[in-house]
Amino acid sequence: MFSTTLLSIKSVLDQAVAASPLAIARPTIIAVSKQQPIERIREALIAGHRDFGENRIQEAMQKWPELKEAFSGIRLHLIGPLQSNKTSEAVRLFDVIHTVDRPKILDAIANECQRQNKTIACLAEVNIGAEPQKAGVLPDDLSDLLALASRCGLLICGLMAIPPHDKPPAPYFALLKKLATRHHLPELSMGMSNDYETAARLGATYVRIGTALFGARI
Ligand SMILES: *Cc1c(COP(=O)(O)O)cnc(C)c1O
Repeated sequence: MFSTTLLSIKSVLDQAVAASPLAIARPTIIAVSKQQPIERIREALIAGHRDFGENRIQEAMQKWPELKEAFSGIRLHLIGPLQSNKTSEAVRLFDVIHTVDRPKILDAIANECQRQNKTIACLAEVNIGAEPQKAGVLPDDLSDLLALASRCGLLICGLMAIPPHDKPPAPYFALLKKLATRHHLPELSMGMSNDYETAARLGATYVRIGTALFGARI
C-alpha cells in the first residue's frame, strides 16, 4: 500500500538525516510516477501525497492535466530531458524543472516563462561523473550556465544529478553538494530507489523515488 511504503521510506530518511553531520531536514519525496498505472497514482494522491515526477512530457500531458483539476496543490517535477520544441508544454504543466543543462534550453524556458507570465523553479542537471553519453552540464561548465541563467532572469535554485550506475554513488553526491554550496544553491535533487538513504545523509533536499514506492513500472 502506498501510504505504508511512504511511511517506511520517511523513517529511513529521518534516520539518515539524524545521523548526518550536516544540519539538514528530511528531503521532499518526489514520487516518480512514470509508467505507473493511473490507479496507483490516484492512491498516492488520495493518501495526500503531492510531489510527483515524470520524465516524458508527452506521457505527463496525457495524465496530469486531469489529475491537477481533481486534486489541489500538486507539484509536478520534470526529471527527464527537455527538447526546446516541448518547452511551451513543459512550462505550462510542470512546477519544477530539474533538467536544465544547456544554454539553448535555458533560453527557451526563460522566453516561455515570460510569454506565459509564469515563474518556474529550475535546477541545473550536472553530468556529475562526466560520462560521455549522459545528459547534464559538465561540472566545469556549470559557472557559465548559472551566469547565463541570471542574465536571462531564470531562477536556478539547485542542482540535480544521476551518478554513474556502476560506481558507488556517495562520492558523486558529495561532489554535487560541494558544487551547490560553492554556488549558493539551496536545492539538491539526488537519490533514487537504490540510493536515497545515502543521498539524504549527504544533503539531498529532493529524492526521486519510483519503484521503491510504487512497485515495478509497466
Ligand atoms: C525513473 C527515474 C527515477 C526513479 O527511479 P527508481 O529507480 O524507480 O526510483 C529517478 N530519477 C530519474 C531522473 C528517473 O528517470
